[in-house]
Amino acid sequence: MSSEEPVKTICPYCGVGCGIQVQADEESGDVSFMPWGDAPVNSGRICIKGGAATEVVNHEDRLTEPLIREDGEFREATWEEAYERVVGELERISGEYGADALGFFGSSKVMNEENYLLQKLARRIGTNNVDNCTRMCHASTVWALRTSLGAGAMTNSMEDLSEEADVLWIQGANPGEQHPIANSVYFRQAVLDGATVIQVDPHANKTTRSFDIEDTDRHQHLQLNPGTDIPLLNIVLKTILENDWVDEEFVEERTEGFEDLVETLEDFDTEAAAEECGIPLEDIERAAEAYATADNAAIFTGMGMSQHACGVDNVQNEINLALITGNLGRPGTGVNPLRGQNNVQGTCDVGAMPNVLPGYQLVDDDEARESVEEVWGFEVPDEPGLTNVEISNEFGQGIKGMYVMGENPIMSEPDANEVAERIQDLEFMVVQDIFMTETAEYADVILPATTWAERGGTVTNTDRRVQRMRGVGKVIENTKHDFEILCEVGSRLFDDGSFDFEDPEEAFEELRQVCPSYYGMTYDLLGEEGLHWPCYDIGDEGDPFLYEDEFDTENGLGRIVGVTHTPPAEVPDEEYPLTLTTARLEEHYNTGTMSRRSPTLNRQYPENFVDIHPNDAEEFGVEDGDYVTISSRRGEITVKAQVTTDIKEGSIWTTPHFASASANVLTNDVLDERAKIPEYKAAAADIEVSVEP
Ligand code: SF4
Repeated sequence: MSSEEPVKTICPYCGVGCGIQVQADEESGDVSFMPWGDAPVNSGRICIKGGAATEVVNHEDRLTEPLIREDGEFREATWEEAYERVVGELERISGEYGADALGFFGSSKVMNEENYLLQKLARRIGTNNVDNCTRMCHASTVWALRTSLGAGAMTNSMEDLSEEADVLWIQGANPGEQHPIANSVYFRQAVLDGATVIQVDPHANKTTRSFDIEDTDRHQHLQLNPGTDIPLLNIVLKTILENDWVDEEFVEERTEGFEDLVETLEDFDTEAAAEECGIPLEDIERAAEAYATADNAAIFTGMGMSQHACGVDNVQNEINLALITGNLGRPGTGVNPLRGQNNVQGTCDVGAMPNVLPGYQLVDDDEARESVEEVWGFEVPDEPGLTNVEISNEFGQGIKGMYVMGENPIMSEPDANEVAERIQDLEFMVVQDIFMTETAEYADVILPATTWAERGGTVTNTDRRVQRMRGVGKVIENTKHDFEILCEVGSRLFDDGSFDFEDPEEAFEELRQVCPSYYGMTYDLLGEEGLHWPCYDIGDEGDPFLYEDEFDTENGLGRIVGVTHTPPAEVPDEEYPLTLTTARLEEHYNTGTMSRRSPTLNRQYPENFVDIHPNDAEEFGVEDGDYVTISSRRGEITVKAQVTTDIKEGSIWTTPHFASASANVLTNDVLDERAKIPEYKAAAADIEVSVEP
């Protein structure tokens, strides 16, 4: 333990990036939470997850020693043995089968410097097979935003949205539950100042209930059928075209593709589309008017949009809406993905993706790649690698070895039973984590890492603010920081100094050289406030909102592309008559590795459940509180039923957090063909009354 003084750091959970203080007790090793009163994002406010975050730091389940599998069992090992095994196997597999037989999973819960090192390690070995869990949440959003506007990130900042937005259009996102401080501080302030809220979601949730707006003109919940976001937005777009609410000057000067949209919608039947959405046409038209006639209207987008086989088209249609109404390039507007993990934005920024290098520079762009190679001193493969699910689909076939840092693919990927089968076909897997996860159970080597509270580095929040994390030092002696482990593995594999970093700051200095939007930042300049990227030069103060004068596309224009409805890959039929959709709870975090071990959080929701509409409950003979078995073509889980009108009739809703009954046993692994994100949000399912498991 190195510090008993409180240190200022960042909450390890969602992407809002709240500042908190942590303090260590030298005797017990326990780390406690203290508010950081003037933290830049949250000014000391905190949600239940942030307040409970320190509960997992000195937890009894922490991994304390390296483990090596021998004769099917784990035994404790020295770090020397563990490193030798990891380095030996990485060398053997790349030597025997080629570097592309290896896959690397970075982590959105790990800092920029560490993800930077992991992707550099993959590329130094000679493969672009490196990805992170943004693939599972916002890959389609990043793809659409990057292609049509320029950058795969929020166009605006929470602060300008709070001050200037007159309409908050929230589609497939649930900030009341998933970004509680953004919702209760920033978005609520906009509402108090008179903003109208349009929420589009098959499930009523904490966002629906959070604003207490009685005036139905100022608060609409469009409860659509899962997977009908494109027809809904096409009704909105056609209503805008027909009522001449288009911002013609903006369209003329700053966009391309408007005619394509007009053509796409020419024969579009709004009445039939409204029926498909399950919402009265006039409600959607009323929402369209509110958005199109506002001075400043902002779109918030979440995984309800991105996690579909048509995820890129879903987000493109949101971009279309913003572009034709001129709602981009000034405060209080934009298309704003709400990111789920504290460093999912940064993990992508630093290049832990198979198609891009740091700063979203394409690996197959010769000029960009060569500029990075010049700094790194080695060649990078010029073809994009495999994405997360593609890597997992190749376990035991094209992929023989895996390096998994802080990820739990057995629970996070769709069709989880299959993933658990395939992972056993790997010749070697090393897992670097803080707990024995469901994935680590199958590893050959486990490296015990330190937690978020113990080490320093930087993370990038949902509105592109890069902030420093500071640690209290190790609470368990024989664990190591991810940073130390990666430097050691890299240096043992390559004696050319490419992994020879004294500390995270030195790695950040190198990152700046290869990531143009971070070039103007240093640890000193980040200070306690942080900076919103892009910062292209020292002295840049960062941009709270993007695209004031032009978009960051090749010709500077925003790209409008008309899109048509693609129904989910699986729709209800006789065998599986319901649509299963999934989402997360405020009290839990993704695969629950941390939140299920946090007494405060687990107490709120100790087990999974399913929401079912009263009419469906009657049809399937389900009473509130019954245990029910939900099945899909891929597996089944048994959970308690909640009978509620929160969920749209014909659909059921459950969560992925619980190992004993995860939604991902049921979900479909069909992918969006461009962004390769799985369709977590719609699968055909059946339900029947069961007994307590
Ligand atoms: Fe942490 Fe997000 Fe809660 Fe803030 S809103 S305390 S960042 S979980």
